[in-house]
Amino acid sequence: MLDVQKLNAFYGPAQALFDVSLRVGAGELVVLQGLNGAGKSTLLKALMGLEVRSDGRILYQASQGAAGPVDIQRWETHRRALAGLGYVPEDRRLFTGLTVRENLRVAAGRDARAREARALDLFPALKTLLRRPAAQMSGGEQQMLAIARTLMTGPRVLLLDEPCEGIAPVLVESIREALLALKRDGLALLVAEQNRLFTTRADRTLLLVAGKVGDS
Ligand code: ATP
Repeated sequence: MLDVQKLNAFYGPAQALFDVSLRVGAGELVVLQGLNGAGKSTLLKALMGLEVRSDGRILYQASQGAAGPVDIQRWETHRRALAGLGYVPEDRRLFTGLTVRENLRVAAGRDARAREARALDLFPALKTLLRRPAAQMSGGEQQMLAIARTLMTGPRVLLLDEPCEGIAPVLVESIREALLALKRDGLALLVAEQNRLFTTRADRTLLLVAGKVGDS
C-alpha cells in the first residue's frame, strides 16, 4: 500500500532523514522505533507532506484493485489525506473548544454516520463524552478522539506519532486494542513509539538512528 524508497528530509540546510526505505501493506502494522531526535516524527511528517522538505519516492496504492501505485511525494498534504493517508500527530491538534461530537463532525467526509458509528465502536469510552469539550478530557481520552477524528476521513493508511506516550495504562490498552482492530480491518498502520507496546504485534519493526534505518 505504501512503499517508501530512499526518502530524504531537510529542515532548511539540515538533513534529518537519509535514504529511508520502508513498506507497509494492507493489514500490516509497522513500528518505528528510535530515540528522541532520531527522526520518527520527521518521517511521518514527510509522508504527509508537512513542514519538512523531502525527496525520494512515496509510492501509494489505495487498494489492490485501484490504479497505481502512484508517487505521491510531491502531492500537497490535503491531496494525500483525500487519497487515504490519515495522520495523528503527537500533539493531537484537537479543537479544544469543541465537543467530542463536534470534533468528529468537523472532520467528516463521506459516510459520516457509518464512520462515526465505527469510531465510537472502537472507542466506546467516547460515547459517554460526546457533549464534553475536548479541553476537559484526559490525555488518553484526547488521544482516542484524535484517532477517531482521523477515522472520519476514511483512511487506508494510519500514521500515528507516539499514540500511547504519557497515557494512563488502562487507556493505553483500549487504544492498543482499537489499533489492532483497525489492522484486522485491513488498514496499513505505521506507528512511531519509544516504548515497546506494539512491537509484539508488529509485522516489522524499524529502528531509526540519526535519520537512518537499521534493523532492530
Ligand atoms: P521525538 O520523539 O523527540 O519527537 P523524533 O524521533 O520524532 O523524536 P524528530 O522530531 O523527527 O525526532 O527530529 C529529528 C531531527 O530533526 C532532530 O535533530 C531535530 O532536532 C530536527 N528537527 C525536528 N523538527 C525540526 C524543525 N522544525 N526545524 C529544524 N529541525 C528540526
